[in-house]
Amino acid sequence: MAVKLYYEDPYLSRFEAEVVSVDGNRIYLDRTAFYPGGGGQQGDTGSIGEKPVVEVGMDGGEIFHVVEESLFEQGQQLSCEIDWPRRYDLMKGHTGQHILFRSLQEQNLDLAVVKIDITSDRKSLFVNGELSWDAIRKAVAKANQVIFEDNQVAIRDIPLDSEELEEVRVKIDRLKGDTARIVSIGDFDAAACSGVHVAKTSEIGGISITRMISGRQTSDWEIQFAVGPEAIMSASILSVTALSAADLLGTSIENVEPTITNLRASSQQLSEQLRSMVAEQVDNLEPEMIGSFSVYYKIIHGADRKKLTEAASKLIRRDGATVVLCDISEGGYLLVGCNEKLSIDCRELLKIGMGILGGRGGGKRNFAMGGSPDGSKCEEAFGAVLEAMKELLTMQHACK
Ligand SMILES: [Zn+2]
Repeated sequence: MAVKLYYEDPYLSRFEAEVVSVDGNRIYLDRTAFYPGGGGQQGDTGSIGEKPVVEVGMDGGEIFHVVEESLFEQGQQLSCEIDWPRRYDLMKGHTGQHILFRSLQEQNLDLAVVKIDITSDRKSLFVNGELSWDAIRKAVAKANQVIFEDNQVAIRDIPLDSEELEEVRVKIDRLKGDTARIVSIGDFDAAACSGVHVAKTSEIGGISITRMISGRQTSDWEIQFAVGPEAIMSASILSVTALSAADLLGTSIENVEPTITNLRASSQQLSEQLRSMVAEQVDNLEPEMIGSFSVYYKIIHGADRKKLTEAASKLIRRDGATVVLCDISEGGYLLVGCNEKLSIDCRELLKIGMGILGGRGGGKRNFAMGGSPDGSKCEEAFGAVLEAMKELLTMQHACK
């Protein structure tokens, strides 16, 4: 088994090693500073004998290095180098994740880690449990405080039967061997972890949350975060976005959240009022007469579709009445109806409209409706149905 130099000295980026065996593109060394990945932290890349290492992993307890075009032989001494800026960023991200999770857990003791993903592209912590924005705000402030206090990150192995393990965040079923590798961050946190960490928290250089994604099947929250200069870059952009939002809202940054909550409530109230007014409009429509038949028609924006259906059903109770309505909001919606004594198949008329609008529809002979998430052709579809309805009524009037 290769000597794990990444544990002996996590800051070692260049080393000499002997090739123990070669299996295709897989190289096995007697010692390695390449971290094979684990604890949610991505494995290293770099070079061996000046050949790029594209992947490092663990197979049957042995660390393998995948090298493009391997021409190496057993016994060869090689100079190896890991991609240090990439690795150092992963170490900072990984240690930052320990601090961030502990800070979040201070806000909600029931919070549980589902998954950790620390890669060169993205740093994510997946958790289950409730988190309010206020809790997140407090947690990220605490995490930065711990980072800037410059706490020592200490690593030690403790036996699995030690009482000390009760004080540590650990998933017992994930532990292998007789001891657990414990990573302590000052007095703030202790967790069992196989990853590679920085020695002092100040090296992380700050942490910021860049995105919160909720309601996934796998976890309640995916918390994406950044560390170091990237954290400062994203936090400064987000702070200006927040200031601009406050300016647009005509309020202070402290009042952005209550202002939006109030605006949303009043906008909901207004749209409910508007929807009721739309239904009233339909009630008061003046029909176009074709002989003794009447056509009630209108293009509406933002109707409550249940109320629209109720209003249309009321209209077609009148003798000789027909309706063609279209609502353009959240896509397009068509409604075709006629008094049940008329020999008109509204489903056939709707089909003409749906052919233009797209989407799905159906109903009864004297009352049919359909909609599409794309409302861009709704007016055209409405026009075609209305024209077809008028043609039918004109013909029926002539035959009388
Ligand atoms: Zn760790």
